[in-house]
Amino acid sequence: MAINIVMPKLGLTMAEGKITKWFKKIGDPVKIGDPLFEVETDKLTNTIESKEEGVLAKILVEDGEKAPVAATVGILVKEGEEVPDVEVHKEETVQEAAKSEEENKKVVVIGGGPGGYVAAIRLAQLGAQVTLVEKGEIGGTCLNVGCIPTKVLLHTAEIYREVINGEDIGLVVDGKVKVDWKRLQQRKEEVVTQLKEGVAGLLRVNNVEVIKGKASFVDKHSINVEKEDGSNIILTADNFIIATGSEPAVPPINGVELEGVIDSTEALSLDELPEDIVIVGGGVIGAEFATLFNSLGVKVTIVEMLPYILPPIDRFVSEAVKENFIKDGIDVFTSAKVTSIEKEGDKLLVKVLIDNEEKTIKAEKVLMAVGRRAVTNGLNLEKIGVRLDRGLIWVDERMRTNIENIYAIGDVTGKNMLAHVASDQGIVAAENIMGLDSKMKYNAIPSCVFTKPEIASVGLTEEQAKSQGIEYEVGIFPLANNGKTLITKEIENTMVKIITNKKYDEIIGVHIYGPRASDLITEGTLAIRLEATLDELFTTVHAHPTIGEAIKEAALSVKKIAIHSANS
Ligand SMILES: Cc1cc2nc3c(=O)[nH]c(=O)nc-3n(C[C@H](O)[C@H](O)[C@H](O)COP(=O)(O)OP(=O)(O)OC[C@H]3O[C@@H](n4cnc5c(N)ncnc54)[C@H](O)[C@@H]3O)c2cc1C
Repeated sequence: MAINIVMPKLGLTMAEGKITKWFKKIGDPVKIGDPLFEVETDKLTNTIESKEEGVLAKILVEDGEKAPVAATVGILVKEGEEVPDVEVHKEETVQEAAKSEEENKKVVVIGGGPGGYVAAIRLAQLGAQVTLVEKGEIGGTCLNVGCIPTKVLLHTAEIYREVINGEDIGLVVDGKVKVDWKRLQQRKEEVVTQLKEGVAGLLRVNNVEVIKGKASFVDKHSINVEKEDGSNIILTADNFIIATGSEPAVPPINGVELEGVIDSTEALSLDELPEDIVIVGGGVIGAEFATLFNSLGVKVTIVEMLPYILPPIDRFVSEAVKENFIKDGIDVFTSAKVTSIEKEGDKLLVKVLIDNEEKTIKAEKVLMAVGRRAVTNGLNLEKIGVRLDRGLIWVDERMRTNIENIYAIGDVTGKNMLAHVASDQGIVAAENIMGLDSKMKYNAIPSCVFTKPEIASVGLTEEQAKSQGIEYEVGIFPLANNGKTLITKEIENTMVKIITNKKYDEIIGVHIYGPRASDLITEGTLAIRLEATLDELFTTVHAHPTIGEAIKEAALSVKKIAIHSANS
């Protein structure tokens, strides 16, 4: 079968490109990876390599001519194959090109979280007729019961903690400072509502039809939607994107059904703060809630089954976090297993096995934070044959499932359960549906934990570098040596750690434990994405006084030439 060579999309805003030079002539054999042609845009020049093997049969856009993204610029055939008749539409805009090839393409997105709503908007930008089906609230977990509400609560908790510990920075409170939990809950709702209305507005201006209801597949090209009023409608489409997200996992522990045992969603909307809480699970969600409740004066105990907390984080960093948690008064039990929960009066008794000894911890609430599982129930995936892999929807790098016209994105695929990953996967799925060629890469995904201080990391941990057999070097710069961190007082155990590949000095991991880590990690993400080397970090001027200077110092530390540390 003849293969269309198309004008690639080399950036989110690229609409067209100029072919400055073909490297192959008609009749030349082409192998995968051979340079085909050079494209110039207003921003860059790139050599495009072949993704397929064959013989170059036609050049439709000659040297010096322009073509819109996704337009066919040449034809590749197999040896001896007939050359098809193809016309080129050089004057079309990208939207027109997409429309002519994908005219009136109908796409239904199931789920309106950060995966689904971003995919819907991108599809609409590319000319699709888009319907978004959402059974709950637009914004999904992230906006309603995840990223945003947790950060609203953490913001107030952080200021409260700064103020009550403010004497040594000259902040004296004359009177009592207290947290108005009811007002804080209201503020959380206000922020969430404002953001939700913003997303609904964006869907409206992009002409995305939103239907409230629960979707389930009838066949590969249609779904049934059970609406809120109990009525049902059938929607048909050329393509579907499943973006149904995840929900808290419930472990099989006796007593999890007792009143007072809560999940993260319930923890965000408590009527009042408890006196004490046991958090089962020392992962990202458990650590953020531990910070929140501890900062607000609640006695917190973390019980984690693994020998360390925050399993995805570089071990050196997670040990530092654990030490700080303990200094802050949080009890942390690792290698500890909850065996049962019982009720005693107003309290819950959590039985924990530590080193073969049973311990009982008493608390008013028990927060189950042991992970999340994909939401696939009720979608009728078995009927249409969508492949699941340990409860998660299997997808390729273009976010396509094993069924050609069905894509899946976000938590339901279990790649990295993060909002920004869901959104980027949504863009990749939308672009592939609309005829562009987009792939998801996972080597430069930043992840942040909003503890105090914050944790942020991108790329490989030291343990991963070791287990992958990479010859690596490490530089650690203590934030106690950074002026701006000293001003914020968050100098205890905080650091920037950089891991490089020894052969090329390429940055392969950046880990920050310190103030504003979640903002600073972007430099590390860009460094890994652009395959930057140590030299490129050394020679980048960093503003003073900033915490970001520590990234340059950590890079210098790899070669033991940091200016503001002893380099021992
Ligand atoms: C407490 C907490 C804090 C978090 N903090 C962060 C953070 O700081 N940063 C970060 O990146 N991530 C964070 N996350 C994770 C983040 O929320 C998720 O990764 C993200 O929401 C996943 O997006 P999604 O679009 O895949 O799914 P979701 O946001 O879960 O959205 C899925 C949507 O699909 C709908 N749906 C499900 N089934 C159907 C159906 N059959 N028909 C119609 N609709 C359906 C659901 O109602 C839901 O609205 C946090 C999560 C939690 C729980």
